[in-house]
Amino acid sequence: QGATAAQRWLEQDRRYVWHHMQPYAASRDPMIVVHGEGATITDIHGNRYIDAMSGLWCVNLGYSERELAEAAYRQLAEMPYYPLTQSHLPAIRLAEKLNAWLGGEYKIFFSNSGSEANETAFKLARQYHAQRGEPGRWKVISRYRAYHGNSGAALAATGQAQRKYKYEPLAPGFVHVPPPYCYRCPFGQAYGSCHLECASVYEQVMEWEGPETIAAVIMEPVITGGGVIVPPPEYMRQVREICDRYGVLLIVDEVICGFGRSGERFGHHNFGVEPDIVTMAKGITSGYLPLSATAVRASLFEAFKDDAPYAHFRHVNTFGGNPAACALAVRTLEIMEERRLVERARELGRALSAALVPLAAHPNVGDVRSFGFLAGIELVADKETRSPAPAAFVNQVLAGCKRRGVIIGKNGDTVPNHNNVLTISPPFVVSREELDQIVQAVTEAVHEAAEGAGPSGAS
Ligand code: PMP
Repeated sequence: QGATAAQRWLEQDRRYVWHHMQPYAASRDPMIVVHGEGATITDIHGNRYIDAMSGLWCVNLGYSERELAEAAYRQLAEMPYYPLTQSHLPAIRLAEKLNAWLGGEYKIFFSNSGSEANETAFKLARQYHAQRGEPGRWKVISRYRAYHGNSGAALAATGQAQRKYKYEPLAPGFVHVPPPYCYRCPFGQAYGSCHLECASVYEQVMEWEGPETIAAVIMEPVITGGGVIVPPPEYMRQVREICDRYGVLLIVDEVICGFGRSGERFGHHNFGVEPDIVTMAKGITSGYLPLSATAVRASLFEAFKDDAPYAHFRHVNTFGGNPAACALAVRTLEIMEERRLVERARELGRALSAALVPLAAHPNVGDVRSFGFLAGIELVADKETRSPAPAAFVNQVLAGCKRRGVIIGKNGDTVPNHNNVLTISPPFVVSREELDQIVQAVTEAVHEAAEGAGPSGAS
């Protein structure tokens, strides 16, 4: 694109497009992405970047997988739409494949987004208890720092206050517990000498709320957007055990962790836990088309086997599980199997976390955490007090990476200065050389920001 054409697009963008999550000032100069190839994207000015965030943790297979486009095209030409009040072949194929990937027997309800998959899970959990004669079980326990979506109940389940307070009242009945955040333990403990208070707190909260009022617990295997908070290895099993004891369902949100990101097919496979409900989106189509799923253990479905009025699950989603997205998802999973991309993600994750070790010594790096092929670097102003690095510092690191041709993310909490965790989550097709470039860019950018070098405030 010529300079004037690019300028015109930017002006039109400024005039007409409302960007997600951006404050007004930051949206003035968005990156207009016009092309993707492998793990790289190209903007309207012809600048090429390694996308170390896979878009928004989506594009695991990279940006140029023609076979995915072709799978969607073939399905659109053959049979573009029919609702899942009846059925179609791509949905059946995908539901069967998801069962194989999950390694258990599940009924699959399809929607379009992670938020919808979670909304579906909450309704299913509540109705499940009602069908079994316990309609009083309607509350859901989630964690502070968690993100579960932008819609009524999914936002209520989200544990980041600043995302919510202007939009209240949200759905009632959502209770939060502190996260298993060892670097800033909410219980003032240290892993090794603690009693896993982050897990036993669920039991306390269930007692305080009244166990007969609790429908479900929802958690990601690792809190991703909330700052790559990796729990102790026995945490999830312990929470599962508490849920079992209190008759509470465990919903695992695999929207980011699923489909290989964790180094296993699903994040919970790393912890030896079998959920009751699994929600998934993003990587299910490698981000190429919107699709999400709520997988419900087949044994739970028994409670819905009743033809009495209102016994069935009264929930419909017009575009949920649309044929093209399902066909594309099937091809995504086949390609991952054929090319052993889950294994590749695991190996790349090990290489990435090893390569980040030297950076952990930097005075502004408080903690480096990783889970599969997903890393978080928590920036601090002071290593002793662990006070978070100010937003301006974090932004300078991001800008420094971008100047070096690498896009990374920042995550954490929405309270001021706590969005201080750099995130790296590249496509699984990234080359070893590109991975080296990512690590080098982040390392240089942190040093540069600390030394006060580089143009300030650029992004
Ligand atoms: N759960 C998790 C863990 C997420 O990260 C997200 C989105 N980032 C969602 C749910 C919501 O997904 P969506 O944006 O597709 O509604």
